Amino acid sequence: MSLIDYHIHERHSRDAATAKIPEYIVAAEARGVSEIAFTTHMITVGPDVDISICEEEISEYIGEIRAAQEGTRVRLLAGLEVDYFPGEERHLETILGGNDFDFILGSTHYINGVDIGSQTQAGGFFANRPIREAADEYYRVWKRAIETGLFDVMAHPDYWRKYLHHYGRTAAWGDFGQVVFDALDAAAEHGVGIEVNTAGERSGTGHYYPLQEFLVAAHEAGVKAVTVGSDSHTAGTLGYHLEDAARQLKAAGFTHMSTFRGRRNTRVGIDEILKRAHSH
Ligand SMILES: [Zn+2]
Ligand SMILES: [Zn+2]
Repeated sequence: MSLIDYHIHERHSRDAATAKIPEYIVAAEARGVSEIAFTTHMITVGPDVDISICEEEISEYIGEIRAAQEGTRVRLLAGLEVDYFPGEERHLETILGGNDFDFILGSTHYINGVDIGSQTQAGGFFANRPIREAADEYYRVWKRAIETGLFDVMAHPDYWRKYLHHYGRTAAWGDFGQVVFDALDAAAEHGVGIEVNTAGERSGTGHYYPLQEFLVAAHEAGVKAVTVGSDSHTAGTLGYHLEDAARQLKAAGFTHMSTFRGRRNTRVGIDEILKRAHSH
């Protein structure tokens, strides 16, 4: 086990339309990434459904990943990054239950109708209120997503910070409000994990998602499963800063990361991962 990258978009995500599975495998072999999870977007509601994989394409998508596995020693996982929308639970349950997935990331890119991953819309989410209020609104939806039991791990847990700096504001851990602690308790209780996502640094927030204090709070709350992901939309960023992300988890008190197969979780020592990554 060397580095593992559990957040990768390929061409079925229309915002990664040119990214091909074989290119990721070549990059993984070159960079000592021994295991990768493809997590294409599944968005069932709203204006961004057109960047999502279509339901009719899922078996082809999984089939491509299984076929590619024949030609490489890099372990390939079939997964999704699923957007949670209240009211979609039954629909998502049908999609997830009806297919042979290894790993499901849950995401909250849209909060009460606002696309916080859109630079123009995100401003309205923060306008005329303390950051704490926006954070509390975010974590109420995030907690609800956790409580559905649909997801293995929650992606980029403080994604709401993405465009904050474009509006001349910053969020320190003290601005995260109270709801985040309830949400982390819910994650521990429901056995849902969290992800360290290195795209936060690439998008200019000055940090990965989430802040280090968030990881410490998650560990203290009893969250057990943690994964790391580059959130690559092109093979160029596969494995991006994942060693450092693993070190951040360790600094927060985590001793193990999780790998998944058929949605079942196995723990791997972070020290072991780092040692093998170095010997590569
Ligand atoms: Zn995402
Ligand atoms: Zn993603």
